[in-house]
Amino acid sequence: MMKHSAERSTAKVNIQARPLPRIFVFCSSGDCSDSSDWHSFQALSEDGEFLAAHICSSHDYALHDMGVRETGLKRELYVERYSNGFDVVLVTGPPKQHAELMAAYANHVAHGKDGSPWQQERARSKTGDAG
Ligand SMILES: [Zn+2]
Repeated sequence: MMKHSAERSTAKVNIQARPLPRIFVFCSSGDCSDSSDWHSFQALSEDGEFLAAHICSSHDYALHDMGVRETGLKRELYVERYSNGFDVVLVTGPPKQHAELMAAYANHVAHGKDGSPWQQERARSKTGDAG
């Protein structure tokens, strides 16, 4: 095996880019609008695990608080779940009309995992994460 193969030759080769696992962040406050009093955000992995939750007074804050932005909060929970990378997808519009989110939720139901994010977060915090 040649260890030092030419890097040049691979530069343009698209090695079957495997999409990163997605984490859907959505507002579960019904038919949400900016006039809603509260925004109850959830993060659901595409394979059906609720990873984080946050209640916020503003959609814009939630972008930060739910780690939609790379500098945001909750990202450590996502890294814990997907150490090789992930995409955070902000679901806009009614969640039930978002096909991929509904597929993720179907996975959640099918796997019978504990669906309460606050319990999961509590369990995680008990593990002594000093972060
Ligand atoms: Zn909302």
